[in-house]
Amino acid sequence: MPKKHLSNTNFTFCDTVQSLSAVAASLRSSPTLFLDCEGHDLGLAGGGLSLISLGTPTPNQPRTYLIDAVALRTSDLRSIFDILESPQVQKVVFDGRMDQTALFYDHGGICLQNVVDLQLADIKSRVLRGENEGSLEQLMRLSPYLLQSEVQKNPQLYHKVQKLPGLEQTVREHGVAAGVEELTIKGRFKHTSWLRRPLPQTALIYAANDIALIAHLWEEFVDQGYIDGKLAEQSLRYVRLWTAGPQINASHRYKLHALLPLEILEDTAVERTKLCPLCERLLPQRCFSVTSWTRDVSRKCLVCRAIGIRTIQQNTGGHRPVK
Ligand SMILES: [Zn+2]
Repeated sequence: MPKKHLSNTNFTFCDTVQSLSAVAASLRSSPTLFLDCEGHDLGLAGGGLSLISLGTPTPNQPRTYLIDAVALRTSDLRSIFDILESPQVQKVVFDGRMDQTALFYDHGGICLQNVVDLQLADIKSRVLRGENEGSLEQLMRLSPYLLQSEVQKNPQLYHKVQKLPGLEQTVREHGVAAGVEELTIKGRFKHTSWLRRPLPQTALIYAANDIALIAHLWEEFVDQGYIDGKLAEQSLRYVRLWTAGPQINASHRYKLHALLPLEILEDTAVERTKLCPLCERLLPQRCFSVTSWTRDVSRKCLVCRAIGIRTIQQNTGGHRPVK
């Protein structure tokens, strides 16, 4: 497919109730929307939602609306939340976990419906691209996030462990865009500034660019047949991971990491599960090592095990032998 220009300066900033009603009408008429949220420590306890970015697909460039979630109150945003919660309007996201968590805790329990997460679609596409579970390619992706020597020593413990890709990395890997120089703007905008007003133009372009990337990736994945019938159910399971119990905080290393939590892409079945106390999820036997499954104390799923080893290695400079 032709390479695309990524920068998206074609957006509407919406921070008044009057402008919001016209925007909502336009969004409501689109069967598919691209969604991304920006904020300070987005989704985390003590963090805050700044912008709700929504894009509509068009043949050339998506139309993007940046909705100010600081200037507008929860009651003002009801028309937007109705769209986010509508089963009739499909929302396309890239790692929507923090977006969903922020909407849920900051705005009275908003629950996204009809979601497709392109980060999951990318991981699923790896098999279609010849990268099977346990293959060298799958294991290689885990390094350098995990120490290569550890993965090589116990490869069977990493067959179900998938490295999560970032949005820019995914765009590059799928050859969607010729250049990503516009994205360097990201490095020039401090994430701590999201709740200040007025927002600088660089912040708005940053937010709009992410919508442009999601839109181009969506188009590519549809063309390649990567959006299958199970993805919506899997995406809902994924984005809602952290909407039960107390809001996640920044120190939760077993939830905030770059590995795909287990049992997101697997078919759900009635089977015996045990609690992994680290990620606080009930998981079936295949998610644990043989010894960990039988243990009553210090049980950890394969992903939490990997994160635990990474933490030890980070704290010791990677030199300490791992038992
Ligand atoms: Zn776990």
